[in-house]
Amino acid sequence: MKTIITTLVTVVAAFGICAANPPADQPELRIYHIAVGQGDCTLIVIKDNVCGAPNTYKVVSILIDAGPISDAVVVGRVLQGIKDTIKAAGGDGLQYIVASHLHSDHLRGIYSILLALKKSTDPDYAWKSKVKLIDRIGYSHFFSYKMDKCWNIANGRTRDAYKTLTTTGAFKGQHLVVKSKDDILKPFKLAHSSMVCISSNGEVNGSWVAQTKAGSTTEAKSENDLSFSFYLRFGAFRYLTAGDAGGTATGSYSNIETPIATYLNTTYGGGNFHVCCFKVSHHGSDHSTKTTFLNTINPSSCVIESALQSYNGTRIPVERVVTDLTTKCTLANVYTTYIPEKKKKSTAPDYDKPAADLQDVNMYILGAPATGGNVTIAVFTKQRNKADLKLSSGVGTPTTITCSKAHPDAPGCP
Ligand SMILES: [Zn+2]
Repeated sequence: MKTIITTLVTVVAAFGICAANPPADQPELRIYHIAVGQGDCTLIVIKDNVCGAPNTYKVVSILIDAGPISDAVVVGRVLQGIKDTIKAAGGDGLQYIVASHLHSDHLRGIYSILLALKKSTDPDYAWKSKVKLIDRIGYSHFFSYKMDKCWNIANGRTRDAYKTLTTTGAFKGQHLVVKSKDDILKPFKLAHSSMVCISSNGEVNGSWVAQTKAGSTTEAKSENDLSFSFYLRFGAFRYLTAGDAGGTATGSYSNIETPIATYLNTTYGGGNFHVCCFKVSHHGSDHSTKTTFLNTINPSSCVIESALQSYNGTRIPVERVVTDLTTKCTLANVYTTYIPEKKKKSTAPDYDKPAADLQDVNMYILGAPATGGNVTIAVFTKQRNKADLKLSSGVGTPTTITCSKAHPDAPGCP
């Protein structure tokens, strides 16, 4: 019991609520799904032993997407949250900023953050000159592709401005080209962690599924399908995030999910694959998270990052995805970065309306490894005001969820 209380106090402190108790000196993982309106923003902070040195720790932090934010106050608030969370884990900066793909509900916030960093003289952001950028722009053949064909958000200027800033401007030379099967944590030699790229730029497991080559028979039909996806293991904990990758080869989509699922199942599951948490693809769109995919990845918990409706007013997540997730993850383990309004004269959520408010979903795993054990995840939600994305109320009650399967530890040191 004492351990649980200590852990919770530590976690609350770590998310900037109070300033007591430094984090316990053991491996820990924080996955911070930050509410940014209609879009994704996820901060992953891993504190792990260095290979062969059980008492030495290294902290590696990765930001994946940053929503569509551009307001200076909101950008400052998100950046501060990133800084505080990394500091609480004992780290000193971001190692990677990943743009899962180039749509503005993922990229614009990254651009805004980079601009803010460029101007900042805060020594806490000294990492800005070393942070590696992982995006599709880093690929040499990116420039030869007919982007306008798959650039379907009327915000191409964000992409162009981002491209300039990161190829000729302040962040020139900081791209890292990551291909499927690359483990971006490998250079850090962590004892219990790996984060393998499963799909990148339309390539899954080294094969092109959706090509960035105009006129090819497998030509990508949507920017979404070129999303990076990553499979994170931290001890016995497993997490999958796949941007806005689609799961059906109809309309303007390719089927990226099936090869992702096949690869994961074959490589890591022995035909019995399972993740402890799934960051739901494409904000719960019907083009993604198809039932067969869900039946292969078998998530114990799910997080949907959206604002309940897309830019064009369509309802996301769609009812089919919500139903499938609540069955698969069990209702209690489906988290959202939005809070639905209630139906009139009812307590039932009204999914047909835009979100009433937003919330951050923080996941915290302490002392992960526990080889073969069922990992427990402490989940904290923190409400945001949807109008200005500022904190509007304190932390909610933490809930604890348990990964439904016991896994072996991540491979660790060679
Ligand atoms: Zn999106």
